Amino acid sequence: MAQDTTYLVAGASLAGAKAAEALRAGGFDGQIVLVGAENELPYERPPLSKGYLLGKAARETIYVHPRQWYADNDVDLRLGTTVTSVEPAEHAVALDDGSRVGYAKLLLATGSSPRQLSVPGGSLEGVRYLRTVSDSDAIKAALAAASSVAVVGAGWIGLEVAAAARQAGAQVTVLEMADLPLLRVLGREAAEVFVALHRDHGVDLRFGVHVTEIAGAGGRVAGVRLADGRDIPADVVIVGIGIVPNTGLAKTAGLEVEDGVRVDAALRSSDPDIYAAGDVASAYHPLIGKHIRVEHWANALNQPQAAAQSMLGQDVSYDRVPYFFSDQYDLGMEYSGYVEPEGYAQVVFRGDVAGREFIAFWLADDGRVLAGMNVNVWDVTEQIQKLVRSGEPVEPTALADPSTPLESLTGG
Ligand SMILES: Cc1cc2nc3c(=O)[nH]c(=O)nc-3n(C[C@H](O)[C@H](O)[C@H](O)COP(=O)(O)OP(=O)(O)OC[C@H]3O[C@@H](n4cnc5c(N)ncnc54)[C@H](O)[C@@H]3O)c2cc1C
Repeated sequence: MAQDTTYLVAGASLAGAKAAEALRAGGFDGQIVLVGAENELPYERPPLSKGYLLGKAARETIYVHPRQWYADNDVDLRLGTTVTSVEPAEHAVALDDGSRVGYAKLLLATGSSPRQLSVPGGSLEGVRYLRTVSDSDAIKAALAAASSVAVVGAGWIGLEVAAAARQAGAQVTVLEMADLPLLRVLGREAAEVFVALHRDHGVDLRFGVHVTEIAGAGGRVAGVRLADGRDIPADVVIVGIGIVPNTGLAKTAGLEVEDGVRVDAALRSSDPDIYAAGDVASAYHPLIGKHIRVEHWANALNQPQAAAQSMLGQDVSYDRVPYFFSDQYDLGMEYSGYVEPEGYAQVVFRGDVAGREFIAFWLADDGRVLAGMNVNVWDVTEQIQKLVRSGEPVEPTALADPSTPLESLTGG
């Protein structure tokens, strides 16, 4: 039966589309069904809080492939369709159009969804989250009309949206529970850079604050109430308090789930015919020596290629150094590596931190480089990743000295 050879991908965003591409590139000539809940062609999300939100990038630029690519590559793309359940014993999935599709192998690329702010008033008109292109369109329109914007959460999305809101001319207040922005990812030393950046651009940053209510007037947002009784007036509230992986299908299918869908280094789940990649996957990372879930673009771009090879029966071990990037105002940064919150001994800076042109390195107590972040310094990702990958101790003074080539610290 034709269905027995079908490779089915649940989730048609970056990871899903890249998996379909890699299956064809890997010589798979069976049926590929790519099922996506959204009505849009698979697209990339980073521009939604940057160029696209700022009106600098056109809609056509966000798509992973043009529409014709799916037909040319014989990928059965079913948009606006949700996989409602997976039946591993039957090797089949149920779709919300009432149909069932059999599979030989299944890839879960269901991604993640914004964590919801559950406070009174949380669903008032004017409270917005940013995940989809229509969210970005709605926020763009709201920012154009807003005079005051409150951003709840000083993570990457919150800060990027704050920058966009300032560029749109609104007054912006960022409300963050922790003492600093991005504290869990960057630690204190480097987080300070983002405090200075946003204060320099006129953002009112409030730390250590708890949002208890979204206040409304006439069914619309009027502001944010804090636990200390203060009210922050706002006609738009944008919530960016993290994401949760879409593991519902995996859970009900009885797969092992812990934070994300637990997969090995070959991206295989606890069911040998079901794989996971992208934001939803908690994959064993050989370099880091544990399972990690990476909620970033580069992972959704590259991990599905490994998953596809694995689905095609090749021996694969996905061990790329985690990487992400952000753009805020005139600051561009890239980060390579992985550090647990407070899981480092020291941060070493190379370059001009006050001028926001530097590289920061996170070191373990034995001197190994765990991660590096280049800020407005370019073409160093390869060297930083080499340092991380080498696992060798590095002398902090050499690392801090811009006249010591990074290459020389890894022996080439
Ligand atoms: C606004 C924004 C800005 C970002 N900026 C950056 C950045 O600057 N740098 C960076 O490194 N990363 C960034 N990211 C993160 C990056 O976009 C994600 O890591 C990436 O989108 C993950 O891709 P994915 O395909 O795994 O999941 P997703 O993009 O979440 O896609 C999953 C898809 O699966 C669909 N789906 C879910 N369940 C089902 C189901 N049951 N049936 C069918 N379809 C289903 C969803 O509708 C969705 O379309 C950003 C994310 C956002 C939202």
